[in-house]
Amino acid sequence: MGQNILVTGGAGYIGSHACKALARAGFTPIAFDNLSTGWAGAVKYGPLFQGDLTDRASVAAALAEYQPLAVMHFAALSLVGESMRDPETYWRVNVNGALNLISATVAAGIRNFIFSSTCATYGDQDGVVLTEATRQAPINAYGGSKRAIEDMLRDFGASHGLNHVIFRYFNVAGADPEGELGEQHQPETHLIPLMLEAVQGKRPALTVFGDDYPTPDGTCLRDYVHVSDLVDAHVLGLNWLLDGRPSRDFNLGSGKGFSVREVIEASRFVTNRDVPVIQGARRPGDAAALVSGSERALEELGWQPKRSELRQMIGDAWAWAQKPGYQA
Ligand code: UDP
Repeated sequence: MGQNILVTGGAGYIGSHACKALARAGFTPIAFDNLSTGWAGAVKYGPLFQGDLTDRASVAAALAEYQPLAVMHFAALSLVGESMRDPETYWRVNVNGALNLISATVAAGIRNFIFSSTCATYGDQDGVVLTEATRQAPINAYGGSKRAIEDMLRDFGASHGLNHVIFRYFNVAGADPEGELGEQHQPETHLIPLMLEAVQGKRPALTVFGDDYPTPDGTCLRDYVHVSDLVDAHVLGLNWLLDGRPSRDFNLGSGKGFSVREVIEASRFVTNRDVPVIQGARRPGDAAALVSGSERALEELGWQPKRSELRQMIGDAWAWAQKPGYQA
């Protein structure tokens, strides 16, 4: 058994892939999850501790039981549209949950923390490539709650020596190339899985949110990154901290923007089937374009994305979509 790493949200989409990458790198992932959106069946590479971040005692109990070397914090509410309808829940759950976790981590004497942040902290920046130097100006409650947690980490870092790596994700896509894990949300709101459900006839059509954005074809541009590449960066980030390097923030994306229409085209190529599409209105809170500059992760962490070509990501998601998925 390798050294323990507490993985909040370890039963979720990205957290479960992170557990696999950690196990492969010789660590023991402890999945801490309330199973509100995660799946017990996705916890395959270490134990599941069923707890809730809004209950500080359950967080402290998990840290005391497993004495992890580091904490990786994935658990959060993460839907832009929902955060615009119900900002209070986003601020309460994400920010209180992180505060409990960060303070309990410091109290337990753990000094290594890796945080899942988001490109939504940058807001809408007129199509500029978003680097770590870009000013953060979130336009939705989801992005706002994540930026608040980044600030919290900087303060706990300065005052309590909590060394941390902040990763800002762009649009995470794809599934475990070996087919052991994949994306499964209930309800699903993300473009690629919804599109593949429409291809399979599990829903009547995909609604494209808005076609009047200031982009080449009028639909939003997003930067898609493969979940396996993303979690590889987390193992590099963990080793960065274990090597005693300073706190740092890294954007994680492929550096290429694809419009919603281009994603649909790529899916036609991969699945050889049509995507039934309905043109709909804009979704509140959506930025026109979110494209990453990820040079820092490439140069400093030595991150080497391997599967983040759009067709590869859709292909892996398509393979997963044809499997039975996790049972409730
Ligand atoms: N999108 C869409 N129809 C859908 C879901 C998403 O047109 O049913 C668009 C959405 O407006 C955004 C992009 O697809 O421009 C990616 O959205 P998703 O929810 O997957 O990720 P987000 O960018 O919100 O993190």
